[in-house]
Amino acid sequence: MWEAHPVTHEHPGEAAQGLLTPVDVRTLAEHLGVRPTKALGQNFVIDGGTIRRIVRAAGVAAEDHVLEIGPGLGSLTLGLLATGADVVAVEIDERLATALPGTVARVAPEVAPRLAVVHADAMDLTGVLDRVGHPTRLVANLPYNVAVPVLLHVLQVLPSVTSALVMVQAEVADRLVAPPGSRTYGVPSAKAAWYADARRAGSVGRSVFWPVPNVDSALVRLDRRQPPTTTATREATFAVVDAAFAQRRKTLRAALAGWAGSADRAERVLRAAGIDPTLRGERLDITAFAAIAEAAAAEAGSEA
Ligand code: SAM
Repeated sequence: MWEAHPVTHEHPGEAAQGLLTPVDVRTLAEHLGVRPTKALGQNFVIDGGTIRRIVRAAGVAAEDHVLEIGPGLGSLTLGLLATGADVVAVEIDERLATALPGTVARVAPEVAPRLAVVHADAMDLTGVLDRVGHPTRLVANLPYNVAVPVLLHVLQVLPSVTSALVMVQAEVADRLVAPPGSRTYGVPSAKAAWYADARRAGSVGRSVFWPVPNVDSALVRLDRRQPPTTTATREATFAVVDAAFAQRRKTLRAALAGWAGSADRAERVLRAAGIDPTLRGERLDITAFAAIAEAAAAEAGSEA
């Protein structure tokens, strides 16, 4: 068994601060027989400076209850626990989930009682909500291939989360924070805007990860706000968003024809919502998408 925490001489400061050093990360992975997989987006942070930056940008304080998705070997988990906050960490990889409490107990025993680990898929937290509790913040180096659905799911099922700081692929960060009318504005931007204001909180180079990914990363900070004032449901609004961007080069009249049943009905609904049918979806903010959903429901109601 791997018993002791290997305090390396290359990074004595990090070991002393209860963070994992690059050698620790590799040694732990080897000990656990973990060969990082792309399928699970397993790129582990090996740089203490990046961990401190994430924790700072997240604004975590001792009174917080933090939800971390994908703790992996524990690099970020240890940084979060060092603030004095409670952490509940949801990890899909059973070996990593099982090993994490032991790693934290060895590296920083004094913080270990504040950690709870849940072995689950963060794409569907509904079955484990009682174990996740009521976190105040989400902080995560998200698995890149499922970053947007996981983020939206957390914002949906955990209303107690008032802010999130996530590390994602730089391209995904651009999409999450894009305003209407910009080249990168699309489904992730519009849906994230239902829940929160999103802004970029910095860029992250590739060398802070092991293994080194072939894309750049960035931090995104999201602060929850009230959803648009509308009688339309989130589901109905998101259906309009999906339809509008499925054919983003088309006018709304054409793009929403399938969703509305016909181009004529799409035009009627758009006009009732006060939206020019010749616009493209990329011009609309989330409030406008909600207005379309609301107008469609009103029209269906008046026809019934
Ligand atoms: N937080 C660690 C760090 O910064 O070093 C690891 C981050 S790594 C980019 C993503 C982590 O998410 C991996 O540990 C992976 O096993 C886990 N993961 C992948 N898909 C997941 C899912 N659907 N639910 C929960 N965890 C998942």
